[in-house]
Amino acid sequence: MATLLVLYLILNNNSVENTFDGTQIFVVKNYADSLERANYNDLLKEFGNHKKLPRGFELQALIALSHYPELKNTNIKFELVDVEGSLYSQPEAKSLLSPGSERTYIVLIDTIKNGNLSTLTLLKNLPFNAQIGVLSHELAHTSYYLNKSSLYLLGDMIRYGCSSSYEKKFENETEQRVIDHGAGFQLLAWSNFQYEVKIREKKGHLYFSPEKIKDILQNNHHYIALWNTKDE
Ligand SMILES: [Zn+2]
Repeated sequence: MATLLVLYLILNNNSVENTFDGTQIFVVKNYADSLERANYNDLLKEFGNHKKLPRGFELQALIALSHYPELKNTNIKFELVDVEGSLYSQPEAKSLLSPGSERTYIVLIDTIKNGNLSTLTLLKNLPFNAQIGVLSHELAHTSYYLNKSSLYLLGDMIRYGCSSSYEKKFENETEQRVIDHGAGFQLLAWSNFQYEVKIREKKGHLYFSPEKIKDILQNNHHYIALWNTKDE
């Protein structure tokens, strides 16, 4: 699979590189739905273990998961529900006291809500790459939770709830983690779609703007090589 993945990326004018710690980062400028469908079974075999994938968005979730090899053996349940806030990621309450790698993590996806601004940013209404971008954002939270103690996470939740500057720091570090995992172009696709909505919801200050993401990507050697290539 690894060889196939590298071959696929080379054929599609994408980049694969080793990071300083030896792990591989791969960057894809634009995932094409139809092309990716052909890889579904390989992706499922490699990244689908211990996962409850979201019905209707299985492929997008697997592509997002492929950017987080550290989550390969982690229990993750993607749940389609009607919650406040379009997507949400958290450890499952009953496994909170377990060590990070043994917990079950939940990614909640709101699919039902309608009649307000957030309707625009429901997962089902986003373009394919933006869907991968937002799922990558949620998995960046999961990856962060992985090596944190339960006590630390509890403290985090309290700080997140009490301090808007901590909330901003927490979300900005999450976005940087998405970029460090190679899904920066997908993060940008999501930001292009939802940033204005976040501003209208008075949450824009918590997230990188599309301009900020562009600036970071253009100064990151993993991305710059692909910056001027044509979209497929
Ligand atoms: Zn977040």
